[in-house]
Amino acid sequence: MPVVQFRTYAIAMPTPFRGITRREGMVVRGPAGWAEFSPFLDYDPTESAPWLVAAIDAAEHEWPPARRREIPVNCTVPAVAPEQAAEIARRSGCRTAKVKVAERGQTLAHDIARVEAVSDAIGPAGKVRVDANGAWSVDEAVVAISLLDRAAHGLEYVEQPCALVEDLAAVRRRVNVLIAADESIRRAADPFRVVELDAADIAVLKVAPLGGVQACLRIAEQIGLPVVVSSAVESSIGLAAGLALAAALPELPYACGLATTSLLDGDVVAQPLVPFDGFLAVGRQSLDETAFAAVAADPETDARWQARLAQVQAVLA
Ligand SMILES: [Mg+2]
Repeated sequence: MPVVQFRTYAIAMPTPFRGITRREGMVVRGPAGWAEFSPFLDYDPTESAPWLVAAIDAAEHEWPPARRREIPVNCTVPAVAPEQAAEIARRSGCRTAKVKVAERGQTLAHDIARVEAVSDAIGPAGKVRVDANGAWSVDEAVVAISLLDRAAHGLEYVEQPCALVEDLAAVRRRVNVLIAADESIRRAADPFRVVELDAADIAVLKVAPLGGVQACLRIAEQIGLPVVVSSAVESSIGLAAGLALAAALPELPYACGLATTSLLDGDVVAQPLVPFDGFLAVGRQSLDETAFAAVAADPETDARWQARLAQVQAVLA
């Protein structure tokens, strides 16, 4: 039985994240259950193709065998003021916090204040990691990482300090903080360049942009680095695929970045995936008609997504 009707959602984001204020995407039901197709709006049909491959895979196939039933997760702290950042970290109940840094329009002083506040909020037993989304130059990264490492009383790691994989490698040789590669894997022509260049200590894998749970398991095996599974800020239906990957990995030494429903002002399931005591439960998520009605896209948005879907299907045909 093939995957059939894709339905479009549009969910407001109370705090802009990476410049986005509204998350849009599609959900679809296949023989194995519900799946999500939600490439970011600036992705063209070619870059969106793995997202559709991942969605069809999730809709048509069961998840691989799970080695764990719950997944440790980090809370995600957007580029907000220190007091609000501390509140987000405290309220989450997570022992690990990922703090967004190097946001456009802000300074390093903002980042330091935010990281300090989160570090205090989470306590000495907690861990703080930062994500620069590739915004720094090599020299900027070296300075920023040293100051943020001090502000956090020891950073767990820095995610994607620079955009280029060569620059990631250069930063890694000059700092004593672990480097995680995210965009260098999921938006790269060759994700294994990270290993060739010794550019990272940790691989961040996202199920949708990398073509699905099975594809990510193969990458994890070949890349030979510890893996952190992160979301692309999907609804709970999309997040469930990330949890399935995290559950299937042979080793899971770090908390995963899958507790991102807090960034969305709504969901398509009855009980959105919210961490309890720093963990999320592994399992399929199903669309709830009442919840979906509150976030269903208007006809214009839906028509735009149906057209987009057709374009991506044409790429894959
Ligand atoms: Mg990232």
